Amino acid sequence: MTTLIISEKEIAAKRIASILSRGTAKRGNIARTPVHRYTDDDGHEVAVVGLQGHVFNLDYPSRLNNWFSVSPRNLIEVPPVKVEEAPHIVAALRQLAREADEVVIATDYDREGELIGVEALAVVLEENPKVKVRRSRFSALTSEEVLHAFANPVEVDHALASAGETRQVIDLVWGAVLTRFLSMASSRVGSDYLSVGRVQSPTLALVVDLEEEIERFKPVPYWEVWAACAKDGGDFRAHHKTKRFDDRSVAVAAHARAKAAPEGTVTAVRRSTRKERPPAPFNTTSFLAAASSLKIPAARAMSIAEDLYTNGYISYPRTDNTVYQPSMDLRALLEKLRETPFARDAEALLAQGELHPSRGKTSATDHPPIHPTAGATPQQLRPDAWRVYELVVRRFMATVAWDAVLETTTAQLDIGGEPFVAEGRHYADLGWKRFYTYFRDIEKALPALDEGDRFSVRDVQLLDLETKPPSRYTQGQLIQEMDRLGLGTKSTRHTIIQKLYDRGYITGSSIAPTVIGRAVVSALEHHAKTIAEPDMTATLERDMNRIAEGQSSLDTVVGESREMLTTIMDALERERKAIGDEIKIALREQNTIGSCPQCGGSIIAMRSRRGKRFAGCINYPKCRQSYPLPQKGRIEAAGRQCPVCNSPMIVLYSMRSRSEFCINLECPSNAERLKARAERMAAREKEEAERAAAAGAADAKPKRAAAPKRASATKNRAKRAPRKKKAPAAEPPETGGA
Ligand SMILES: [Zn+2]
Ligand SMILES: [Zn+2]
Repeated sequence: MTTLIISEKEIAAKRIASILSRGTAKRGNIARTPVHRYTDDDGHEVAVVGLQGHVFNLDYPSRLNNWFSVSPRNLIEVPPVKVEEAPHIVAALRQLAREADEVVIATDYDREGELIGVEALAVVLEENPKVKVRRSRFSALTSEEVLHAFANPVEVDHALASAGETRQVIDLVWGAVLTRFLSMASSRVGSDYLSVGRVQSPTLALVVDLEEEIERFKPVPYWEVWAACAKDGGDFRAHHKTKRFDDRSVAVAAHARAKAAPEGTVTAVRRSTRKERPPAPFNTTSFLAAASSLKIPAARAMSIAEDLYTNGYISYPRTDNTVYQPSMDLRALLEKLRETPFARDAEALLAQGELHPSRGKTSATDHPPIHPTAGATPQQLRPDAWRVYELVVRRFMATVAWDAVLETTTAQLDIGGEPFVAEGRHYADLGWKRFYTYFRDIEKALPALDEGDRFSVRDVQLLDLETKPPSRYTQGQLIQEMDRLGLGTKSTRHTIIQKLYDRGYITGSSIAPTVIGRAVVSALEHHAKTIAEPDMTATLERDMNRIAEGQSSLDTVVGESREMLTTIMDALERERKAIGDEIKIALREQNTIGSCPQCGGSIIAMRSRRGKRFAGCINYPKCRQSYPLPQKGRIEAAGRQCPVCNSPMIVLYSMRSRSEFCINLECPSNAERLKARAERMAAREKEEAERAAAAGAADAKPKRAAAPKRASATKNRAKRAPRKKKAPAAEPPETGGA
């Protein structure tokens, strides 16, 4: 009797083999694929093999790859083909299948994992149709969970896998059809293609819509009056009871009256106590939001969490659940933290006796909320992995801790006849906040104040303020918003955001759309509104849930989505020219450097046939004004014309410097600049020669004489701005976590 166990990744295979064999498994190779073998207590041979995620991927047959000869519309009805992703693993599976009597699917337990398992199973059944099939499900790669899962196998869930496959098909069809259409319509073919997607585009629209709201925002002025006070050597601040003055003259009068008073009086004091409940356990969305507030980008947080899971430190990080199952032994989990830097915290929590964990709103049956499954120390993990582990541990501890008790004191004051309020906050018991330490300014001291007390007024300030626009999304906030609108799933949201960065549609850690990102959304919103709106995508997500529950099928849902896409394409094709023109205009705007001194038209940056950068008048061939451009460095419009020759001014960012000059090299202003540069170069060479001659100890002083302020401003700028349209996938343009 031989059993074949198939897990999702090699590292998980190794861990499962080690747990099930109590460390006796031996590693060998088949077709360059590691296989872990051992003999179980009943004398049965067991082989454990790990996949690399999907063994197959969906794509169109290669004859449809030519964008010019195949109309995007024709792709809607073509059934995609399965392409082997990892041929060596498929070869190993075939060989292992022939010797197996029984196969156990042990991939991750969710839609994606079930599909990965079913794909591998298809290969096995092709070789060996009589093999017995079982499924083991676990939420953590710990001994208890793995042993329990293999002792209690279940059936493969084909409905769940089918829901995963439905998503694959629909995303491929929508992505291919719409991306090809939009790219062709705007003549952006090749590496600069414009990507459009079922979930991606409404997500991008969220970012663009918010940016437009920010731009439309008209700040409204208002005033605040604050007093700096002191009593018995204790300083405190008091806010005028009218928190926000909309009328300046009223604020000025209140300020003047209060400022004239050297002393104030306490008119009333109210003390109150409030309990703050611990936060709910982490699911994927709340975990990513918390990681994002620690400046760890979502895609990175997720990949670290997956590594921590695969190494047995935390439970499965893809979950919607925010309620611990009653069967979970929370005390045992705390005990595992005894050998970690959290030992004292764990002791304090265990001393409570019975634990009463907090609970969130979502009770799902698939996986428990994210929690630690083993103790770890900072020496065992990379620094960023440790930060994520610590976050999971602290959150878990907070959920089994007690309420925080906050005492607030509100003192009503009179200063020169004006009413003021001073507030103090003090935690009588930090409760769960003692364990979940990611808070700032949680306490505010106030000296002892009683009714009738007098205090001194040191200063009274009138603050000139204005209302602020809403702030941009962070990755965590965007993920929460996607969750609220039903866009994507816990497994896909962070990868969709990453794709928007990679395609150059969004930029920055407080997310702003780029010109191209805005152009794509505006074209979709004007001509195919449904693609940019969350409703249709949310409907499809619901349909996929129904497939998983066995109430619908892949064919039905894919069929419906093809109909939807056909309707959308009807609308898009009718307006193909308008859409293309709109995007071209937006791209041109992004590339406009200034206006032409000859005819007043726009001067546009472009590339010659040989790939050289130059700038030319938009009215070519009627106007033949053109300029060579520097071939290196990033160029921006300076936003003004040259005072000498009226050509546009440009800003050039190169390695460490920023320089602004007239685009016209023959302009006298450039003669001076070029001469000055030549002189500087000569002076520097001379200086360096002298220094070399002096040959003293190594001079650590900076060689450049450039003003340091400007140099650092340029550096920051270069860091923030995307270098080119394509950001490498491995390197998110965010600087978070650094
Ligand atoms: Zn011109
Ligand atoms: Zn000039």
